[in-house]
Amino acid sequence: MSASNTGSAGATTAEAVTLLLRSPRWSVTDVMELLEIGDAEFRRLVEQNGKLARVLQERKADSAFDGLTERQCKACGELFRTATFRAYCGAPACRRVERLDRKR
Ligand SMILES: [Zn+2]
Repeated sequence: MSASNTGSAGATTAEAVTLLLRSPRWSVTDVMELLEIGDAEFRRLVEQNGKLARVLQERKADSAFDGLTERQCKACGELFRTATFRAYCGAPACRRVERLDRKR
């Protein structure tokens, strides 16, 4: 590996993109607009920069799973989001049904 590409526009852009994408406040689109990079250039940067690719992967993993799953309440049929494997939503009536259900 030579250092001949130090200071090339590509390397600095990749660094800027990496830094911006570490912050959850910026979306990929925001960053692309901010740094005026197109789709093709963005893909090229990701291919050339392992650090950037990793940050991007972590973000994808985060947005794909936030720890909550959507379930349908067994009692009232409402959809609710939960981090556990509960079958009932948080409504008082449904919690009562849940308690009865457990005793069975
Ligand atoms: Zn319910």
